[in-house]
Amino acid sequence: MRCHICGGEDVCFIKKEDAWDVVQCKTCSFVYVTPLPDEKFLYLHYQKYLPADKNRIEQWRTMMSDVFRRSLDAIEARYGLNRGTLLDIGCGYGFFMELARQRGWRVYGVEPCAHARAYAVSKSLEVDSRNLFARAYKDEMFDVITLFYVLEHLPEPLRYLNEINRTLKPGGLLLIRAPHTTPLVKVLKILGIPNRLYDTPSHVSDFSPRTIALALEKTGFNEIQTFPGGATRPHVLSKRIVSYSSGLLADALYAISGKRLLVPGVSKTTIARKMRYRDA
Ligand SMILES: [Zn+2]
Repeated sequence: MRCHICGGEDVCFIKKEDAWDVVQCKTCSFVYVTPLPDEKFLYLHYQKYLPADKNRIEQWRTMMSDVFRRSLDAIEARYGLNRGTLLDIGCGYGFFMELARQRGWRVYGVEPCAHARAYAVSKSLEVDSRNLFARAYKDEMFDVITLFYVLEHLPEPLRYLNEINRTLKPGGLLLIRAPHTTPLVKVLKILGIPNRLYDTPSHVSDFSPRTIALALEKTGFNEIQTFPGGATRPHVLSKRIVSYSSGLLADALYAISGKRLLVPGVSKTTIARKMRYRDA
């Protein structure tokens, strides 16, 4: 299977997780799963991916609250005080949509998981069950599109980014929040510690700030900026301590390095702008 980003065929093997190999492109360094699970398999898989019981849904809200708040702050800072239309792809229970709606944005969501979508709809949010291609939004409909922990689930990331670009207004913003697992996996491999950190087949790729930028440049985006973007707040105390301490370290290093140093192996947020004019 060719690299989804650069088309390269030469790969290094990183590890095996269940039936899937995780490999890294020797040309552009993109990390992806092979063989790729098909869309039908993934659709069924996502029906069970998000929790359905009330307590765990509330834990999810708490876990993501700082990341959501800081993401919207960053979007609004780049836009001044303007409000507009926002699409959250893979919106889950609609927690980010609720926050944006409170601040005056007109919000839309897409979510394949039926019970998560039902929860969002119960909060009077407009959420579609179809994928982006089947839903086929109008050209240049949105000011902002967000992908929170979604990019690593998409089997054809460039195809999705091109479609996102089409539905964004010229100069519109795309925000991506994604994990970055490969540096940790490589350290654990050297230490001989077994793990399932890639979370296959839920995740079908692992982006670095570099490969995210490459994918965005290829799909009509510029002004690409990656930053720590806050830490999640997991319910389990030990996980919360790890998340907070790595989040604090990431923020501190980013600040003292003059916004240059990003800690490898932790989730980050990227914002990019749709180019006003694309070269043919
Ligand atoms: Zn490549």
